[in-house]
Amino acid sequence: MIQTALTHGRKLATRIWDFSGGGAQGSMRRAWLGGLVILLAACAPAPLRPGIPTLWRASPNFGERRPNFVVLHHTDDDSTEQALRALTAPYGKTSAHYLIGNDGALYQLVDERSRAWHAGLSKWGADTDLNSSSIGIELQNNGREPFPEVQISSLLALLDDIERRYGIPSENFLGHSDVAPTRKVDPGPYFPWRILAQRGYGLWCEPPLPDAPAAFDAIAALQVVGYDVSDLAAATRAFKLHFAQDQAPPELTDSDKSLLYCLTRHGRPDSADEKPARCSE
Ligand SMILES: [Zn+2]
Repeated sequence: MIQTALTHGRKLATRIWDFSGGGAQGSMRRAWLGGLVILLAACAPAPLRPGIPTLWRASPNFGERRPNFVVLHHTDDDSTEQALRALTAPYGKTSAHYLIGNDGALYQLVDERSRAWHAGLSKWGADTDLNSSSIGIELQNNGREPFPEVQISSLLALLDDIERRYGIPSENFLGHSDVAPTRKVDPGPYFPWRILAQRGYGLWCEPPLPDAPAAFDAIAALQVVGYDVSDLAAATRAFKLHFAQDQAPPELTDSDKSLLYCLTRHGRPDSADEKPARCSE
């Protein structure tokens, strides 16, 4: 594209030169027009297809990035200031759209229209780049203690606002451990997913849970929920971290299978007003 613009610019300059005439006035005009050509070349859009000649024909019909997921994190830091420094360090290569302190203070670090660097290598269902499709929210927490009520209140107010503006589906409110199960454990075992689900954010099922049928395929169900099961142990760990935080065994138990069965059948509220599914029927 730049090459095309430069070629066009050179032709334009030649044509201008032919008509500009001589003398001092002509020299000034040539200098001015030459500057214009350079400016036009400099303002040309960057190449969209390197190595493939591409003609730029600008269309006014486009919008801003529209997130369709929310990915929640904990900072693994002991103070909000420490987390702010890490998330804004010029060479840190990590950020999020928002940080919520453990006192409930809300900080915005990246414009929602931009792609913050919070999810890293990630996969959920067929989405293989959560940074491009999500809003990232960090909560200041060291991973070893519960999240204060005031902090969760701030989070819920922010989620209400985000959901109102983008209409993000309920099941697309996720944790970092859900989308990067081999690498991450945040927001961790203390994160109150049930409280979020009561507000309409995230899948959830309340006991009593139905028995899964004998032919129930739990691994396929993990995939239906969204987990990348290429590392089944990691996917199982992430699932239990989110949906069965009080269960220690690393493998899928009958109770986990009942939970998965419920999540794939009923765990998707149709609206934020609907309560998390009960699977007793
Ligand atoms: Zn994280």
